[in-house]
Amino acid sequence: MNDLIQLLPDAIANQIAAGEVVQRPASALKELLENAIDAGATKIQVVVKESGKQLIQVIDNGKGMSATDARMSFERHATSKIRNSADLFSIRTFGFRGEALASIAAVAQVEMKTRQSTEELGTLIQIEGSEVKKQEPVATTPGTSISMKNLFFNVPARRNFLKSNPVEMRHIVEEFQRVALAYSEIGFTLMQNDMEVYNLFPGKLSQRIVGLFGKNYQSQLVPCEELTPHINVKGYIGKPESAKKTRGEQFFFVNNRYIKSSYLNHAVSTAFENLIQPDQHPFYVLFLEIDPSHIDINVHPTKTEIKFDDERTVYAVIRAAVKQALGAHHVVPALDFSVDVNFTETWTNDESKKADVDREYSYKTFNTPEFKKASTSGWERLFEGNDAGIRPERTALPDVDRDEEEAEVLTFSSRANPEDSSTVFSRPAETENTGTTFQVELNYIVAQMSTGLLILDQQASHERILYERYLRQLKVAQGPSQQCLFPPVVQLSPGDYELVMGVITELQSLGFMLAEFGNNSILVQGVPADIQVKNEKELFEGLIEQFKNFKNELSLDNRENLARSLARKSSLKRGQKLNAQEMETLVGQLFACQNPNFGLGGNKTFVKLDLSSIHSFFGKSHV
Ligand code: ADP
Ligand code: MG
Repeated sequence: MNDLIQLLPDAIANQIAAGEVVQRPASALKELLENAIDAGATKIQVVVKESGKQLIQVIDNGKGMSATDARMSFERHATSKIRNSADLFSIRTFGFRGEALASIAAVAQVEMKTRQSTEELGTLIQIEGSEVKKQEPVATTPGTSISMKNLFFNVPARRNFLKSNPVEMRHIVEEFQRVALAYSEIGFTLMQNDMEVYNLFPGKLSQRIVGLFGKNYQSQLVPCEELTPHINVKGYIGKPESAKKTRGEQFFFVNNRYIKSSYLNHAVSTAFENLIQPDQHPFYVLFLEIDPSHIDINVHPTKTEIKFDDERTVYAVIRAAVKQALGAHHVVPALDFSVDVNFTETWTNDESKKADVDREYSYKTFNTPEFKKASTSGWERLFEGNDAGIRPERTALPDVDRDEEEAEVLTFSSRANPEDSSTVFSRPAETENTGTTFQVELNYIVAQMSTGLLILDQQASHERILYERYLRQLKVAQGPSQQCLFPPVVQLSPGDYELVMGVITELQSLGFMLAEFGNNSILVQGVPADIQVKNEKELFEGLIEQFKNFKNELSLDNRENLARSLARKSSLKRGQKLNAQEMETLVGQLFACQNPNFGLGGNKTFVKLDLSSIHSFFGKSHV
């Protein structure tokens, strides 16, 4: 028999890798900027046309490349930054996977001009869809200029997925801001369609912040610094009065690399507690310095997520640093000494436990279920004993990476689901609302109607609404999707993988966009549009967990089970604060259900308190 297995041609392998590295113009910009910084540039110019869809050009004055290196740099896994696996533990440069240029060249038309300062002439390379079109000597200034034209010209499906110009430009600006903040000693310019967006001179961090966000920040910045033997925190926080209703200007950097962490964001938020409204978000730009062997930056292909060995200590240090800064600058009247934990001790204890574990091993454990469990239980403990009003929702991933139109979507009044808006008005006349609706214990919704009061269990009601919606979507097989910005890879056990494969069409009907990723893992490229997702990976894993639980408890068919599981997983929970409009929508949607009376567990979704029973409480027998 003939052998069937062949290695993929490089161009195709590169295109596949590009799916991970280059998701949109902004992700390509990030890679190019990082390369320029790694090359020691002190001045970096960025030129963008049509929000990067037509052109992204990055010009640096860094060390440049030799002719051979210039050609090599487009090969996959070609990197000058690590030589062996031990280096992986001490990475200080940005790149190291050696896939960025290869990926970009696979999905765009790229022109590179590069010259080392010791050479007379530089090198010009043109490459399109991984195919080298031209390589020749060229007269050029020292440094490197790379232009990426017509991103996804050869992958129309991906090009069609790009968002509108304003949305893509916002991502570009965000990426640019992150890099510019981390390197205030480097000069940056950003031009969009021949207009100057930023011209940032080298300077101190505070100057960079003002350069990026405006002069009014000058009087709003409070320096923040906390040095401990294992972690240093430095940077600025905004005074409480500068807090905003929208998230966005919140930046964490770990060893100068921008990261997202809802957990650490929570540390800052709690330090601001009582100084700002619960729905406001403080400004901060905080830099953490930590020994690279205590972090794993490899958990995520686009590298904005991070795992710390000892997340809780990092949390405590950040919280203390912010509290301290607020106190020291008389922003709060008195210091709260309760946060003054002895960090050194916490860390040392942990170290001694791990003393006999070598690095190789501790690196691997990042991916073990035990590690995941340990870090999530830390999370949960954080919310123990908190008032019902303070829930993880508030600390969800910053909205910065969500498109505005998506961020506006309410959990249960999705724009993707137009029928919902009409349902608000279609409830029975007897439930007509005659006054304000309010929440009791963030658990029940009380609505006034002409004949008495209506009391809804918010979670049970929402589960009912979602359940019926998902059943409908499964029937018509077209639940709307939202694309994940950073599609997570979910690793499954072989059993769970089979399970998922068994209901893959149903999952797609609900709006999940899933791709096989080899080795029992799945790439989650999109999730149902009407769910407010904080963490797509958690949503998907939780859904499967719930699906399995229901499968054991009840003998449901797969569709029924999926609709229930997703409703349970994505519903409003107790303790979630709702505004008047959300409550109204919920009540309206419940009574638009086919069977509004009962929740998924057979429990009641609402009770009515008639006027006559209210009268009878007071011994009055009639109205
Ligand atoms: P990585 O950055 O992960 O090593 P890249 O594909 O981004 O991989 O780049 C490949 C190599 O090309 C780098 O290791 C570096 O040697 C070289 N290179 C890329 N961009 C530049 C630049 N702007 N200046 C100098 N060298 C560069
Ligand atoms: Mg790189």
